[in-house]
Amino acid sequence: AKQAGRNGMRFFDRQMQDRISERAKLENDLRHAMERHQFALHYQVQVDAHGKAHGAEALLRWRRADGSWVPPASFIPLAEETGLILPIGHWVLNAACAQIKEWQSVPGMEQLILAINVSAQQFRQPDFGDVVRAAVERHGIDPRLLKLELTEGVLLEKIEETISCMHALRAIGVRFALDDFGTGYSSLQYLKRLPLNQLKIDQSFVRDLASDSSDQVIVRTIIAMARSLQLDVIAEGVETEAQRVLLEELGCRRYQGYLYSRPVPEPQLRALITE
Ligand code: C2E
Ligand code: CA
Ligand code: CA
Ligand code: CA
Repeated sequence: AKQAGRNGMRFFDRQMQDRISERAKLENDLRHAMERHQFALHYQVQVDAHGKAHGAEALLRWRRADGSWVPPASFIPLAEETGLILPIGHWVLNAACAQIKEWQSVPGMEQLILAINVSAQQFRQPDFGDVVRAAVERHGIDPRLLKLELTEGVLLEKIEETISCMHALRAIGVRFALDDFGTGYSSLQYLKRLPLNQLKIDQSFVRDLASDSSDQVIVRTIIAMARSLQLDVIAEGVETEAQRVLLEELGCRRYQGYLYSRPVPEPQLRALITE
């Protein structure tokens, strides 16, 4: 029994060892991903009540040297831990601005609002506002075409700094959406102070909307909150026509999800919108 126990322990050590070296390899690869041009943005369309595209969300993708795509859920947390999220976030911002610029000469895409995800660490940088302003200027784009998606967690810390940074960017036209809304703890009182443009209803409330009456109550409440704050509201994770119809009945007029398109490379988004 003692022998087996020791073997069991060795097996466990080995597994731990493998996991640690796998992580170290991932981290090392992530460190070189930028210079190796392994990042790309994919785009997911956002549509209004008439099914017309009014915006898109840029979602980061990492293609490793072996050709495998690493989903953001497996590398964004690592990027956050290692601080690599800062150069990565900067790359995303610039790639998004360059894309907006390019769309200015594509009929049907000039008005498209592009949303990017901003991580807590990135937003917390004292020069974040300057960095965004510089990117907008460098690419010569209308700041109103850029939307920054923040999560409640980001906004709950250092509230005064957060509000002033947001105001400075709002002043030049940059838009803000509160991502994953409903999963955090924001009160109406608190939301009232933030210069937001949009609430994004988290997909966890959309998934079982048809069968879960408490999700319906939550969605109805979010929409009512948005209305009283004069904010736009969009539902994410819309996969079925049944979900869309219910959302419409509950007062939601903007949708994003697989029902319309998965996140796709730019040429596919372009085809979707201009054809
Ligand atoms: P998120 O911002 O909440 O993005 C929505 C996620 O839901 C995306 O996953 C998208 O592909 C997925 N999705 C869209 N429609 C549907 C649908 O109808 N059904 C289902 N089941 N899923 C849908 P993705 O692309 O894997 O991104 C995951 C998360 O990674 C994002 O969640 C965001 O938090 C983060 N992320 C992605 N790109 C960036 C980035 O450039 N910077 C930062 N900081 N985070 C990013
Ligand atoms: Ca998002
Ligand atoms: Ca979200
Ligand atoms: Ca999410």
